[in-house]
Amino acid sequence: LAAIVAEGRDQPAQTEDGVRVSLQVNAGMNVEHGQDRWGHYEGIGLYRTEIPFMMRERFPTEKEQLDLYRQTLRAHKKVPVVMRTLDIGGDKPLPYFPIQEENPFLGWRGIRMTLDHPEIFLVQVRAMLRASVGYENLNILLPMITTLDEVDEATRLINQAYFEVRNELAQSDKQEQLTRPLVGVMVEVPALLYQLEAVAKKVDFFSVGTNDLTQYLFAVDRNNARVASLYDTYNPALLHALQHIVERCEELRKPVSVCGEMAGDPGGALLLVAMGYRTLSMSTHNLDKIRWILRHVDSNVLQVLLTQALSCSHPDQVRRLVTLKLEALG
Ligand code: PEP
Ligand code: MG
Repeated sequence: LAAIVAEGRDQPAQTEDGVRVSLQVNAGMNVEHGQDRWGHYEGIGLYRTEIPFMMRERFPTEKEQLDLYRQTLRAHKKVPVVMRTLDIGGDKPLPYFPIQEENPFLGWRGIRMTLDHPEIFLVQVRAMLRASVGYENLNILLPMITTLDEVDEATRLINQAYFEVRNELAQSDKQEQLTRPLVGVMVEVPALLYQLEAVAKKVDFFSVGTNDLTQYLFAVDRNNARVASLYDTYNPALLHALQHIVERCEELRKPVSVCGEMAGDPGGALLLVAMGYRTLSMSTHNLDKIRWILRHVDSNVLQVLLTQALSCSHPDQVRRLVTLKLEALG
């Protein structure tokens, strides 16, 4: 199977009838690898900065973060790198920053924590911006956005960091320029689905986090085995939500990608491409598989699959449809 899937590894993902899909990588470690190891990829669609934070005994300094981010931007200098600001809390604790809560997933996590600690946020964004000098491939992504005020506040802090770093560069002898990064938000809290238009006026791109979107849409802890059967990305309710997002983003002319696990699931990827998503970011171990599948499918066939899937009332019906389609591909 590996040999079959390896065919076309160095080619972009494109359906048989020519629909291009940009496949990108979710990373947090092993960022030094690239095309030799992963095959063709078109960006780091999600760099989870909390992972290096979780591997330490204290908050990394601005200099330590700068070195790490620069290494990442340099290793992938030909493609965009989407760096997400710290997303701790929920299922991602920091040993040296304990948070005690009854409901961690509904509590102080992601942007909620960093906006309450602007010093943590500013140090991180400053490190990202300083790291980007000379590369120009930095994009900044904000996790767990729920309200417009959070977008405004985060933007204000990013602007503050931008002007600080720009002034510091201007005062040094080197002729270094700072490019303003694109800033986007994760669509993973369901409330954002009904604020896309207002948020779109303030950001450059959206990235859909299907892991948390599924968790919050169905009110089901993504790590609780007892309720795992309710956590189902083939549930038509989630499919309708995802369809809504891509349609709105097309109307609003805002780039949108998917960086949750669903993008790296063969059936999930087929449905997402059928809906109109053209950028999928996934764990590296799924890249070859998804690239191969997309290269062996026709987008008209996907349209039929999607229409059938959206008219289903049960996740199992969707699963059956998708499995049949995948079996037909071999
Ligand atoms: C998601 O929620 O889908 C996502 C990509 O982010 P994380 O899994 O890191 O919460
Ligand atoms: Mg998430």
